[in-house]
Amino acid sequence: MQGPRGDDACCTSVAPVFTVRVRDRGSRARAGTLHLAHGEVATPAFVPLATRGAVKTLEPRDVAGLGYEMVLGNTFHLMLAPGPELIAELGGLHEMMRWPAPIITDSGGFQVFSMGHGGVADEIKGRRGPQASADSSGSILAVEEQGVRFRSYLDGGERFLGPETSMAVQAALSSDIALVLDECTPFHVTRDYTARSMERTHRWLTRCLDWHEREGPAGQRVYGIVQGGIEPDLRAASTQEVAASRCDGIAIGGSLGQDKPQMRAVVDWTTAELERVAPSRPRHLLGIGEIDDLIEGVRRGIDTFDCAMPTRLGRHGMALVPDPGRRWRIDLHKPRFRRDREPIMAACRCPACAQGFSRAYLHYLLRARELTGLRLVTLHNLSFVARVMSDLRAAIERERFDEVAAQLHAGAAPGAATRSTS
Ligand SMILES: [Zn+2]
Repeated sequence: MQGPRGDDACCTSVAPVFTVRVRDRGSRARAGTLHLAHGEVATPAFVPLATRGAVKTLEPRDVAGLGYEMVLGNTFHLMLAPGPELIAELGGLHEMMRWPAPIITDSGGFQVFSMGHGGVADEIKGRRGPQASADSSGSILAVEEQGVRFRSYLDGGERFLGPETSMAVQAALSSDIALVLDECTPFHVTRDYTARSMERTHRWLTRCLDWHEREGPAGQRVYGIVQGGIEPDLRAASTQEVAASRCDGIAIGGSLGQDKPQMRAVVDWTTAELERVAPSRPRHLLGIGEIDDLIEGVRRGIDTFDCAMPTRLGRHGMALVPDPGRRWRIDLHKPRFRRDREPIMAACRCPACAQGFSRAYLHYLLRARELTGLRLVTLHNLSFVARVMSDLRAAIERERFDEVAAQLHAGAAPGAATRSTS
């Protein structure tokens, strides 16, 4: 953690967690490097989910081979199984999953509060509706000042997650970056509830930082989380409060609104304020990862993103393609791919396309529920996102961010965008 009050000039005695190399002149976009216990991460970067200690269908060498330098482990799932004691006994999360590079762990709050608020993940990303969240089989029993009591989706047993428990679990996991526990409020709650919840989140922030200062692993960095829903004044207040704390980095969480314009506005207010009060601390945007959102998040000064999108789409047979009109995706289950001998994407360098696997073969594998099909589409999707981020990083370095962002928005194939301007 940083020294008292955590202002940006105070960390001369310890190695900085983040250095900004280049700032874009026309926007808040910036290219930098995160310096973490298990290595460096070039930013802006996308962070694939290793929810239960594995990037679904892939091995660590696959993930590294696609160009990723950090993955995200999920405290909620890992604390339920195999449990922090066993993970610590097995040498920590890096050792257990054989991923030697940086890991960020979330606090577990998002999943717990998803059970209570119902479908919060969908709401936060602007997808309204009554569809059940993936974690809805558990249930929340009480949200109290001390923490949250909930019922495990695994065995129905009562469990507790408070600021100190979350930090203790993340300490056992030995992640490079731990996130503080926050209440993830959904879009539909009142302004009053959002304000009260935000204030409790700020109290939890102090408790997390206090616990970490006493007992946290050396070298583990802690990110605070800005809440405040869709209220500009609450977001500003939360940004100032979190920036004034000893946290090493700052994540943006909670409800980002009901559609993309609102989400971008919330990110915009927050990073504008961060630019003022914490210009050199790294920023993470929680749970956002559609292609246009990545481009626009980078423009607003976000350094890292995590999202289930590329891996989850892959498991549903949806492949990413440079087609903004179709939300950058095709559904390989569709009958029109039955005889399609082309790869997912022409000139794609991912392991699936480079080996020449046809859309027809993938269509068949997916319909037959062959695991290889899921793996190949996941490889393609994560490769696609890695190339988008690599293009954006290169564009910032070459002072061509606006130009490359416009090309990607217009459907340029990632990887080609920077090549065409060099
Ligand atoms: Zn591909």
